[in-house]
Amino acid sequence: MITAERKPIQEIMNLVSPYKNLLLVGCNECVTVCSAGGRKEVALLSSALQVAFMKSGRIVHIQEMTLERQCDPEYIEQLVPHIDSVDAVLSLACGCGVQEIARRFKEKMVFPGVNTKFMGASERPGVWAERCQGCGDCLLGVTGGICPIARCSKRLQNGPCGGSSKGKCEIGPDVDCAWQLIWDRLKALGLQERYETLLPAKNWRNGRGGGPRKIVREDLM
Ligand code: SF4
Ligand code: SF4
Repeated sequence: MITAERKPIQEIMNLVSPYKNLLLVGCNECVTVCSAGGRKEVALLSSALQVAFMKSGRIVHIQEMTLERQCDPEYIEQLVPHIDSVDAVLSLACGCGVQEIARRFKEKMVFPGVNTKFMGASERPGVWAERCQGCGDCLLGVTGGICPIARCSKRLQNGPCGGSSKGKCEIGPDVDCAWQLIWDRLKALGLQERYETLLPAKNWRNGRGGGPRKIVREDLM
């Protein structure tokens, strides 16, 4: 999923401070799973903003909505009946959702209420960890299912580096060395010989190195 964390309330207040009528929009997908921008967080933020604005002597009207997906034009159309009655939109979706609302409603200011973080997984309740950087050419099939791009601090494809110590990365004692994880996993699978194979230099143009990317599927057009 795409993970996100809600911005501090004061930062959100500063962003929306010129506006009196807000549409606060959540998303039912990733940001719901990571408890940053679903229906519940919309309600909590709405109440918190109302109280905070009242304390500062201002009345701000907030309409609440949560869409199935904010990164999908089909669902963004559900905002049409509401958009004319508000001055601005505050979105609790990831950056994709914020930009899609801005693309659809060019005359309205759209603000992000969360900081979008990374593509990750839930390690345990309340903890999400980065797992993929969308490099466009997945290596998991040769690294035992552990991503060296997202999980090695130096994105090394042939590790570990000299900073690996007792299974931990040199950046901190709480950070596993990705290449230790890769070795442990390949060993457990009886695939140690794969570790001896040097991976070729990666073509970073398949990732962000090639600029903004698109997937075009003519069979679906
Ligand atoms: S190798 Fe690339 S696509 Fe595969 S998990 Fe890592 S970053 Fe994501
Ligand atoms: S210690 Fe391991 S995870 Fe950290 S940078 Fe070196 S190879 Fe990568």
